[in-house]
Amino acid sequence: MAIVRTRAILLKSYPFGESSEIAILFTEAIGKIRVSVKGARRMKSAMRAKILPFSISDVVVYVHPKKEVYNIKEAHVLKIFNRARDVKFQKTVSNVLNIIDSYVEEGPEGRKIFELLISFLEVLDGAEKRDDVLKLSFILKFLKLVGHSPVLDRCVRCGTPHGLHYFSPEIGGTLCINCAGIVEDQQVIRINNGIRKTLIFVRDRPLSTVQNLSVNEGMIEKLIREYLEYHLGVTI
Ligand SMILES: [Zn+2]
Repeated sequence: MAIVRTRAILLKSYPFGESSEIAILFTEAIGKIRVSVKGARRMKSAMRAKILPFSISDVVVYVHPKKEVYNIKEAHVLKIFNRARDVKFQKTVSNVLNIIDSYVEEGPEGRKIFELLISFLEVLDGAEKRDDVLKLSFILKFLKLVGHSPVLDRCVRCGTPHGLHYFSPEIGGTLCINCAGIVEDQQVIRINNGIRKTLIFVRDRPLSTVQNLSVNEGMIEKLIREYLEYHLGVTI
């Protein structure tokens, strides 16, 4: 058994026994873990008050290789986001945490995803009214990090970099005019070069730059939503 101290974010929790909870945490040091929070559902649970939604906690966990649920030694809140009570912020963050929870396996991985999540939360916290574009940017950055980015700089079928006027969520990226006419995917969507360049911009540029981008999110949201549903089975 090892004792590990790490930053952690609450992904979700569910009741366990009469008064306790199991909390699913995404941690910086050991990835996604389950911990039991004894007495969490009692009004005055000290431990529950230290692992809150929409905040970052510092936790010390007893890691036992043969157990699926770990025990917490201690915890405290490092940061509560300013917008933690803002419903729009809560909805955006819940969307993103759901993607992470669906995709990331339990176990010691994901430090880079954790870093991306922290920078996303920090930029989002200071950027009211930019939630939609920041969320889409997070999703594309996340997909790139885990090796699932849609292909955006060439035709996903023949490889040409020219005439990329279509997008196929199912095949996984942009298609040239020739290939769009012969693939059997019913979902091929006509796009213009501006949309394609916007997707590349929000995927590759820092979140702090993306938040200043003036863009109509409707079309890129549609492309990303359909791509995510098809490849990760996640709805946003
Ligand atoms: Zn092609």
